[in-house]
Amino acid sequence: MSARAGVVVTGTEVLTGIIADRNGPWLSERLRDLGVDHAHTMIVGDRPEDVRDALEFFRRAGMDLVVTSGGLGPTEDDLTARVVAEFAGVEFVLDEALEGRIATILERLTARWPNLDQEAIRAGNRKQAHVPAGAEILEPVGTAPGFVVGGSPTVVVLPGPPRELQPMWEAAVETPTFREAAAGATEYRSRMLRLFGIPESEIAETLRVARGEGVDLEAMEITTCLRRGEIEIATRFEPAQEEVYEAFAGVIRRRHGDTLFSEDGSTIDQQVAALLREHSRTIAVAESCTGGLLAGRLTDLAGSSEYVLGGLVVYADEAKVALAGVDPALIERVGAVSTEVAEALADGARERLGADIGVGVTGIAGPGGGTEDKPVGTVCFSVAGDEGRLTRRVMLPGGRADVRDRSTAVALHMIRRLLLGESDPPA
Ligand code: ATP
Ligand code: MG
Repeated sequence: MSARAGVVVTGTEVLTGIIADRNGPWLSERLRDLGVDHAHTMIVGDRPEDVRDALEFFRRAGMDLVVTSGGLGPTEDDLTARVVAEFAGVEFVLDEALEGRIATILERLTARWPNLDQEAIRAGNRKQAHVPAGAEILEPVGTAPGFVVGGSPTVVVLPGPPRELQPMWEAAVETPTFREAAAGATEYRSRMLRLFGIPESEIAETLRVARGEGVDLEAMEITTCLRRGEIEIATRFEPAQEEVYEAFAGVIRRRHGDTLFSEDGSTIDQQVAALLREHSRTIAVAESCTGGLLAGRLTDLAGSSEYVLGGLVVYADEAKVALAGVDPALIERVGAVSTEVAEALADGARERLGADIGVGVTGIAGPGGGTEDKPVGTVCFSVAGDEGRLTRRVMLPGGRADVRDRSTAVALHMIRRLLLGESDPPA
């Protein structure tokens, strides 16, 4: 059996949601990369008894490894190191050499503020130089050192700020104590299949079909999830099961070839960026209901200035007319939420910004504004370029935020399809 691990994320600000936990998910992925089975993440506030309970829970559950995040700072509420020492049954001792190294870091960091209370700095420094006896020390990236404390379970103690935790984790996995604790790790391969434009129930049916054809699905871990309107099928398997994966992927390709858009882990955002680059195309958008979210998403990736020219946020009808050049008589005749206006927006974006490809989005995000023939969730899209045009009217589920977010996904998939050579037949 594989080595198993639990994660304890500490911090009242994380428990209450003031700060979203970035360390639990990040550590989970790293553990998986190493082939260690990550069983639980527990988030606890800054109370020693709660941190201790979490550690005790993982010991009872038979974990080989526990990773903690946070609570290593210089202040009194940072108590993880002491609790871990108690938990491991070792003394909590001052490491004078470490105290000296932290002092050097602090001198550099505090040089800008000559009037700081030196006594307080020394006290904080001394606190942070206390370590569980016998622990392997992870040198600070900020001011807090981390530790690897051997035992059952072995505990890896890391600071809370992600920019400190991440490099210190890389150091932790190199320590002999960690390696020993993770020795039972299994080698796994991970693959990701992404589909767009089918309901999750279809995948459930496909799994039944695959099983019926003798594909040994139990030999793999399969996780399907619906995210931003796309279906992600994550698989993890031991190298010996590569053939099972290939058989499974074969069934998906056969049944869902038209909606399967990624087999190599790439996202739709990355694919659109790559296609625009490959085809040397520039793009511009005119957005109504998404209010700039599509332009934001297109510019998320570094280097997008190579192909994104810009966008028009045309929320009011007057703005559609003034900024995108939409004919007011057209809006009067068919309404702002219509495939005709989506096309006019795509053309307007293209012309006004001088782009190769124009995208128009107009819809009803809700909660108000729906009508019988145009209910909330109705969104019209058009993508136009020299290669042709794609125009769609779709019904998107969910609340306002979902409709707006999914609209950006639909638009990206339409851009991809246009660049791959699909277009509507001329009217
Ligand atoms: P410090 O010396 O900064 O106090 P620390 O090890 O004591 O380090 P915490 O006090 O737990 O860490 O957290 C410090 C800050 O780091 C938090 O206020 C937060 O901004 C960030 N942080 C901590 N834990 C997480 C987390 N799980 N996800 C994202 N950010 C976090
Ligand atoms: Mg702190």
